[in-house]
Amino acid sequence: MQETPRGMRLHIGLFGRRNVGKSSLLNALVGQEVSIVSEIPGTTTDVVTKPMELKPLGPVLFLDTAGVDDSGVLGLKRLEKSLAAFERTDLVFLVSDGAWDEYEKHIADNCREHGIPVIAVMNKIDAWQPAEAFLNIVRAQVPEVVFVSAVQKSGLDELRQAVVRNAPKDFLDNPALVSDLIGPGDQVVLVVPIDLEAPKGRLILPQVQVIREVLDADACALVVKERELGDLMGKLKAKPTLVITDSQVMLKVNANLPVDVKMTSFSVLFARWKGDLETFVQGVHALDALPENAKILVLEACSHHPIGDDIGRVKIPRWLRQYTGKKLEFIFAAGHDFPADLSPYHLILHCGACMTNRREVLGRIMAARKQKIPITNYGLVIAKSQGMLERILSPFAAFA
Ligand code: SF4
Repeated sequence: MQETPRGMRLHIGLFGRRNVGKSSLLNALVGQEVSIVSEIPGTTTDVVTKPMELKPLGPVLFLDTAGVDDSGVLGLKRLEKSLAAFERTDLVFLVSDGAWDEYEKHIADNCREHGIPVIAVMNKIDAWQPAEAFLNIVRAQVPEVVFVSAVQKSGLDELRQAVVRNAPKDFLDNPALVSDLIGPGDQVVLVVPIDLEAPKGRLILPQVQVIREVLDADACALVVKERELGDLMGKLKAKPTLVITDSQVMLKVNANLPVDVKMTSFSVLFARWKGDLETFVQGVHALDALPENAKILVLEACSHHPIGDDIGRVKIPRWLRQYTGKKLEFIFAAGHDFPADLSPYHLILHCGACMTNRREVLGRIMAARKQKIPITNYGLVIAKSQGMLERILSPFAAFA
């Protein structure tokens, strides 16, 4: 995580007076002790940077600006120096523990001028109750207000959701799909079954996007059907760096590959690209604890017309009933439909999400986390139900 280039991280500027609890807010958000306060609080104007992993959003860089105690000329003068951090800030947390006057207004005005989204974080909410009149003033300047207690760890999911709502689109949509797993000159084998479900005369979007990214990485993409894989492997002079398969033929692919060749699936790449692989991997283990008659919510991110042995409607339900040996009820939601109340469900199963953006999937992940319902995706349940989970996660450092 620490190796993610800074330019790829969402830069979050932390603004707030001294002692509003910015450090404890960071500690609570990332779940680890970090030290970001200046050594001489309130007297330095340095911006302290701290790269972190903000789950489930991914890598971020917090820019902790110096707080000020006064809102007079001196305070604003110090603030001006901190505002230089705006040049590299994608999103601002404006933290308050009850005060809101010229200092906060100045920051909010600057955010607006720079076109930087800002979230007003009302911290220490366990210790004070904001009056309606106070909130009206805040909301007139910063419409997005989140109530947090870093001490009691409340409101943190709401803050993460606000980040997803407000972060610039590029940061949520463009993590690496496959390019971080390969390098120039590498051979990448893509296994693409051409069956009844395959659209006539073309490849599907995830396959095309992976091929494009392999080419962008100056690597070589070799595309075969599963039947030709063994033949191809026999002809290659060197083992491929990576094999990416359609989930439905992963067992056949596994049988044709030496154990030391790294292998994953398109669906797992998309679990990471469009959502959060770690959350989905945690969620897939809920399969082992499903009760009899468990309800599984299947989220299809588009309203495609299911044909034949549709993967989400027919095959996965069949495989999961076989794997668990339980009666399972599958409830389907398509497109942007997403129930607000997830409590009836024991597991949420997301499709590869090729037709939607990461922001929408992350919103769903966070809603599931908040309601403590496990969430995973198609590729991971297929891999787990076929005993392939370990192998298809082997290319990813976090699981290797
Ligand atoms: S958005 Fe989901 S359901 Fe629609 S084609 Fe892509 S993976 Fe399948």
